[in-house]
Amino acid sequence: MSFDLASRLAERHAAHLYRQRPLLESPQQPEVRVDGERLLNFCSNDYLGLANHPDVIAAMRAGAEQWGVGGGASHLVIGHSTPHHQLEEALAHFTGRPRALLFSTGYMANLAAVTALVGQGDTVLEDRLNHASLLDAGLLSGARFSRYLHNDAGSLAKRLDKASGNTLVVTDGVFSMDGDLAGLPALCSAARAKGAWMMVDDAHGFGPLGATGGGIVQHFGLGIDEVPVLVGTLGKAFGTAGAFVAGSDELIETLIQFARPYIYTTSQPPAVACATLKSLQLLREESWRREHLNRLIARFRQGAAEIGLALMDSPTPIQPVLVGDSARAMRLSALLREGGILVGAIRPPTVPAGSARLRITLTAAHSEAQLERLLQTLAECWSRLAEEPEHA
Ligand SMILES: *Cc1c(COP(=O)(O)O)cnc(C)c1O
Repeated sequence: MSFDLASRLAERHAAHLYRQRPLLESPQQPEVRVDGERLLNFCSNDYLGLANHPDVIAAMRAGAEQWGVGGGASHLVIGHSTPHHQLEEALAHFTGRPRALLFSTGYMANLAAVTALVGQGDTVLEDRLNHASLLDAGLLSGARFSRYLHNDAGSLAKRLDKASGNTLVVTDGVFSMDGDLAGLPALCSAARAKGAWMMVDDAHGFGPLGATGGGIVQHFGLGIDEVPVLVGTLGKAFGTAGAFVAGSDELIETLIQFARPYIYTTSQPPAVACATLKSLQLLREESWRREHLNRLIARFRQGAAEIGLALMDSPTPIQPVLVGDSARAMRLSALLREGGILVGAIRPPTVPAGSARLRITLTAAHSEAQLERLLQTLAECWSRLAEEPEHA
């Protein structure tokens, strides 16, 4: 007996689903060097352009000089240092929740929160388009797991009627592959009517959404009663790394006591927390980044509609262009790359079968001229694709 990896890989190739990692040879910014080429980057999640900001870099450097590099141990042993603690307090204040708990990645924060809150005999209900980490967390929890129709409070209510035990409703705030917003007011009231808890993972909403970047809960004005479990990640608009869960004192103490992905891992380097303290300040205070980004989003949607591209219902920096077929999505992204533009082609299983797309992301670091170049190149590549036979 042996593992037949070669044929699994060959099948993946044949299905146009084989993934490759572009090698980034410059910092994260609009003009990048990738695999030896200079390209315009429209696929990063660095929505506010903070990943390579001089003040954030300086904060990280100063943090490393003061606190060293490694976290050294888990938080419960001797890895919970002053910068981690200060960042937790700042994030609690930022989200208007009593407490926040810092994690090294969003994937782990989601595993931790879901598995600490529900288990056998309980129920977890998730939007079917939730991020993979939330779906994995639901499966791992051992609770009865069911997925409701995308953003459909009626479909959620039907499942809530059949739920047993503690019930957790889990949704992305901004859907990571579609860019649309969860209809939180309706979802939260459906959950509350049945005594279920709402957990929102707003990885893509913190930063771009809300008057001071407070994300979807700030956008809709929802407090801790509506959304008792609020997750944010720090690797996107914050431009650094890590994640947090914000909520009540009891929630955070429960995670510290029982969440295995929190307990059994080394704390993130304290200098990363120093960098995030600085990027949090920029994210809150420098509203011009959000304003510029919103202008770019509006201009992109107008220009893309003129080209005749199939856009999705997204008011966020995630602007997918629906193509459908995986091979054609790959071809379009290859044509764009020849034109000097880097965008991601997103294929199943990341998105549902038949909905392959380009996932174009805009950031506050892009200039209006760079956006015009994207639109012009898209127009050229889109008409070239239309001229090519379907199965070239
Ligand atoms: C990126 C992302 C995560 C994972 O966060 P990491 O810090 O990158 O592990 C979780 N949830 C959503 C919705 C995301 O987009």
